Amino acid sequence: MLALVTVASLALQSVADTSPFRALPLPTPSRVRSASGAPGPDYWQQEASYTIQATLDTATQTLRGSERVHYVNRSPDSLAFVWIQVEQNIFAANSITYTLNQPPLVFAGGVSFDFTGKGFIGGGVMEKFDVAGQPLVRRAYGTMMRVELPAPLAPGAAIDFDVAWHFPIPPYGGGRMGRIGTRLYELGQWYPRLVVYDDVNGWNPLPYIGAGEFYLEYGDYDVTLTVPAGFVVGGTGTVQNPEAVYTPEQRARLARALTSDTAVGIISRAEATAHGAQRTARTKTWRFAAKNVRDFAWCASPDYRWDASGYHGIQINTLSRPDARPWDEAHRMAHFTIRHFSEAWYPYPWPQATTCEGLVEGMEYPMITFVPALPKREDQFWDLMHEFGHEWFPMLVGSDERRYPWMDEGFNSFIDYGAAESYFQGTAYGDTVRRELLSAAQLSALPGKEQPMIDKPVEQRDLAWAAYQKPPLMLTLLRDAVLDSATFNRAFREYIRRWAFKHPQPADFFRTMANVSGKDLDWFWREWVFTTARLDQAVDSVKAVGTDSTFVFLSNRAQMVMPVTLELGYADGTRETRALPIEMWNLGSRFTARFTTRKPVVAVTVDPARMYPDVDRSNNRWGR
Ligand SMILES: [Zn+2]
Repeated sequence: MLALVTVASLALQSVADTSPFRALPLPTPSRVRSASGAPGPDYWQQEASYTIQATLDTATQTLRGSERVHYVNRSPDSLAFVWIQVEQNIFAANSITYTLNQPPLVFAGGVSFDFTGKGFIGGGVMEKFDVAGQPLVRRAYGTMMRVELPAPLAPGAAIDFDVAWHFPIPPYGGGRMGRIGTRLYELGQWYPRLVVYDDVNGWNPLPYIGAGEFYLEYGDYDVTLTVPAGFVVGGTGTVQNPEAVYTPEQRARLARALTSDTAVGIISRAEATAHGAQRTARTKTWRFAAKNVRDFAWCASPDYRWDASGYHGIQINTLSRPDARPWDEAHRMAHFTIRHFSEAWYPYPWPQATTCEGLVEGMEYPMITFVPALPKREDQFWDLMHEFGHEWFPMLVGSDERRYPWMDEGFNSFIDYGAAESYFQGTAYGDTVRRELLSAAQLSALPGKEQPMIDKPVEQRDLAWAAYQKPPLMLTLLRDAVLDSATFNRAFREYIRRWAFKHPQPADFFRTMANVSGKDLDWFWREWVFTTARLDQAVDSVKAVGTDSTFVFLSNRAQMVMPVTLELGYADGTRETRALPIEMWNLGSRFTARFTTRKPVVAVTVDPARMYPDVDRSNNRWGR
């Protein structure tokens, strides 16, 4: 496999007749998106706020709801129609997903996400879509629906839609939602919501096929959920009617939990078991409110036990079935994760964070995640922590997931490695987990097979690599080999700060990283994001010149350029590491490094720490 890689890269070497350092052709900066990478003075985005009433009918497995959508047109354009996401239609018999029999997403180790309903035929039924009592003309195109407005919506104007709908709840909902019989529900993609209208694409009605996730507007939510009386509900936002849904004892325990670093049992395992055994025909209504979020999801079960703790006033919750094992450490993992990401990158901006244990393999929504119980402790931590990491990307930094999974899955996976290193510090796993990215590169970054990261998720044949592995490898090398930790962290934090609660595009990220770090990084993004360039650094030969100098002849044998770190081995047995800046490749793919030293150099090793996905290591070493 390695030989094949080498031959292919050598063949491509002669084709690279233009400089890798030429400017990246980015969109022209504007007053909306500035040249510095920050939102411009005229930056705008739409607002979509929702007041929803929904009822969970466990007898018919139906979720039925009505909603008022307050939509504010902050764009400079008049809108004659709006696009609405009706994602339950992914389970309709004629959906793109079913018609094409879309393959599952398979991760290394065999974990797979099936984006279908595993044979379930459902789909949403739109009962009503009105404005001021007048039905609007509408037409669904699979998971997207276009609705004609009674009159064009002027810039600055708002409109209120009255919508009613229902759908049969799939037992398995494409890895994002589902239920276990009538005992546990994880509900996402459940209510009709606005498609994003932005300054780059106008409307963004890319179909929901499975692999691409969600690009959503920010707004406020007021959600009323009616469920069987015995159910415990977790959701986006904070509960508005605690007296009606919690016992006095639970409220007292919650108050204690808010000031506790460790788990306080709000519903103990024994209580959950006793509680789950009771049956009642009545219902209970829960009311949640959330500000400045891009979605709303919820979970519900009569069997949930509930642990809670507090971090800086944020209520951290874990909900799990009494027999979910091993789950006992989950709360500690949840608390650690929210604190770690808050301290490392940006303070968690919402009042609570909830993880629901259940059937979904791992899915994220604002303030709430769906995570299964996993037998291995490391896997349990990774999944729970990864889904919470999505609170930063894309819940806080609201990028376009349906086009750019590397900006949410990828950026999240990058910060995940730091969290795993920190949680498992001092263990073999903690010390080596990031190195799995280099093994992934060996398996996946193959000529003729690999695709550029910029390709859409639904077009990625190896999404695990393009969205989850290559981006964290890219950012790790940017931090450790091109910049330095302090410079990288400052720039990456600034990107988060600038684009919190907004919609960044790739160019906004590239420009922010360049402006804040002070480095021209066009070459880096071209190689890592837009191409499948491979790296092959080599030491060709070494020559002593006079009594005080050694020339090291280096070459860059593949398409990718990166700075060179090399280790000089001396005749007296000592060794020394030298770093050469990226500008070494400005004039071509060969470079002669001159080192002043009186000690004879007997060995030279390029990339001695083995940081790089160098495709041919046989040429990385000269001498003994
Ligand atoms: Zn993810």
